[in-house]
Amino acid sequence: MGGYDLHTHTDLSDGTTTIEQNVLAAIALGLEGLGVTDHDTVEPFERAMAAADGTDLEIVPGVEFSAEHEGSSVHVLGYWVSPDDEPLRDEMDRLRNERHRRAQEIVAKFIALGIEVDFARVEELAGGAPIGRPHIAKAVVETGAVATTQEVFDEWLADGGPAYVQKYAVGPVRAVELIRGAGGVAVVAHPGLYAASRAPGDGPVSLDAGVLEAMVAAGMAGIEADHPHHTDDQRRYFRDFARRHDLVLTAGSDFHGEAKDVRLGEATTPRAAIEILRSRRP
Ligand code: AMP
Ligand code: FE
Ligand code: FE
Ligand code: ZN
Repeated sequence: MGGYDLHTHTDLSDGTTTIEQNVLAAIALGLEGLGVTDHDTVEPFERAMAAADGTDLEIVPGVEFSAEHEGSSVHVLGYWVSPDDEPLRDEMDRLRNERHRRAQEIVAKFIALGIEVDFARVEELAGGAPIGRPHIAKAVVETGAVATTQEVFDEWLADGGPAYVQKYAVGPVRAVELIRGAGGVAVVAHPGLYAASRAPGDGPVSLDAGVLEAMVAAGMAGIEADHPHHTDDQRRYFRDFARRHDLVLTAGSDFHGEAKDVRLGEATTPRAAIEILRSRRP
């Protein structure tokens, strides 16, 4: 199959497969490279390297910062970051700790609303990954009070819902700076999939171009123009944006195991683009 799937998740964040399973699947598919990009963690690196050792598969160590701009998500991919960089580690520790604290707050809200969720069970479901709303939703379903996790979101846990608590997040420009500070290359993830970009018809196809431009000014090197869920219009728009701002075009599946409807290797980046991206390391 060839190419690099530059965007994949494992059960160390919100995917459902192990890093070893992803590496083996990438080898079976004949991919040249696998970007390891869990949310807000560099934990899978060593295991990924070990699992790919002695094979032709190149591991591209990465991270996906779940950044926010004015309360809306803007995910920022960082490739070849040094896992030992202190500011990066400190920020990821803070993100994890704040998620833990926020999950406790959300559980307290559910209890106040009459749903007896057990925080220890939420932690168990997270299995050591940073705790997210999907873990809490599962624990709520297990109490028997609500039938499906989607219903938990629709009635309580969606943004602004009665059990919702905002999370601490870095801004997109700060994410680019942290990635570059750790020796990595920053790429904006799925720019067509944010709330502001989902307007139908003639609506905007991107988050505020000003946000993207601020990220470029901070040294962002690439844009994930070809995400499986982008429309053709969006792909064209982001390719044109890349040309105007000298950004490298990247693609990846955003594989999440059973958690999302995409296959590993469904979108790939050609080796030539990888080499240009690699040369943009600070
Ligand atoms: P968190 O990072 O803890 O805020 O959780 C974000 C995750 O929750 C997203 O990646 C989705 O998987 C899920 N999520 C957020 N909003 C909804 C929603 N309205 N319906 C279903 N899932 C959602
Ligand atoms: Fe995710
Ligand atoms: Fe993302
Ligand atoms: Zn992702």
